[in-house]
Amino acid sequence: MATNNIVVLGAGVSGLTTAYLLSQDPANKITVLAKHMPGDYDIEYASPWAGANYMPVGKEGSAHHAWERDTWPALKAIAEKYPEAGIHFRGTLIYNRKKDQESATGQWFSELVQPNPWYKDVVPDFKNIPSDQLAPGIDNAQEFTSVCINTPVYLSWLVGQCVKNGAVFQRAVFKHIADAANAHHTGQKADIVINCTGLSSKTLGGVLDEKMYPARGQIVVVRNDPGPMVSASGTDDGEDEALYIMTRAAGGGTILGGSYQKHNWDGTPDMNLANRIMKRAIAIAPSLVKKGQGIEGLDIIRHGVGLRPLREGGPRIEKEKIDGVSVVHNYGHGGFGYQASFGCADTAVSLVKEVLQNKSRAKL
Ligand code: FAD
Repeated sequence: MATNNIVVLGAGVSGLTTAYLLSQDPANKITVLAKHMPGDYDIEYASPWAGANYMPVGKEGSAHHAWERDTWPALKAIAEKYPEAGIHFRGTLIYNRKKDQESATGQWFSELVQPNPWYKDVVPDFKNIPSDQLAPGIDNAQEFTSVCINTPVYLSWLVGQCVKNGAVFQRAVFKHIADAANAHHTGQKADIVINCTGLSSKTLGGVLDEKMYPARGQIVVVRNDPGPMVSASGTDDGEDEALYIMTRAAGGGTILGGSYQKHNWDGTPDMNLANRIMKRAIAIAPSLVKKGQGIEGLDIIRHGVGLRPLREGGPRIEKEKIDGVSVVHNYGHGGFGYQASFGCADTAVSLVKEVLQNKSRAKL
């Protein structure tokens, strides 16, 4: 059997999902190389900081829409078949205020908060909440069943699946993408390198993508559990401050968010922002704390900050030759890296197959 030597550079959700799909073909000999691996917490590593849940934001008819639509069945199947993967189903409430439309968070969530969104036919139990049941200031609201992912458990599960399928994981740091082709675990040169370096694609030699920029997300993780997940179109505290709540599977705690601060690289939690996040969460979901309590009723596990790897024009899933090395890019997934993970990885895998077919034709 002919074999393909493949390097996946990056062990966030993009790299691990791509490696997981590729590892299902025994002809693929995969090395996953990364500076950060599941278990690490670092400002250069977005994936552990995510909630993460499935709240579609891709505009109807876009590639982003297709990636999110195509990811739901995979996350649903994992939640049903592999409880150890750390994904569970959870009721979801979405609140929209028309006055948030122009804000950074309002634009980010513009598809999510529509009364008649495309994803109503994807997720189960979608229904609009009757207008006479809406709280003052809310223009429309909906509920459905989504998933919440315990990201440290899920990322580790993906590593386990890849290892079971024969992939090899190694720590490495590269200044230039082409150098990764020389680090395949067999000692042979890789046929292809898959670039899943997220925000670092801005500074990685051979890529240097100036379209990449961060959207800073600050969170508070607490032991309290309010029940359903909640997301709102915006807040009155600032146009880049967000309001969402989600309880992770398997004892992962509840994430209170957040912020969507574009071009802000600060990795230190801002305690004033943290106070506002906690107050807003209690105001929208009073069941977070005991009756009459304020933020003193929250049992804090940790404060955190992650940088969403945004890209002007959307994610880059493309093939390219760099210094003679075949590269497939899969980066730039902003605040939707989990909920678009399987759709994006599928597209990347199709490009990998095209490159490998051309290679074997060239050998004939
Ligand atoms: P990363 O996770 O950043 O991984 C990059 C990898 O590349 C790392 O392993 C890194 O070490 C490696 N790397 C980079 N450069 C080099 C180099 N030169 N040499 C070697 N290795 C290198 N998404 C959702 O779908 N749902 C959510 O609810 C959600 N919530 C979020 C909340 C917050 C607060 C944040 C910050 C993000 C959230 N996201 C959510 C977005 C999601 O986390 C990201 O889109 C996703 O994690 C990006 O994954 P990635 O694998 O592309 O990048």
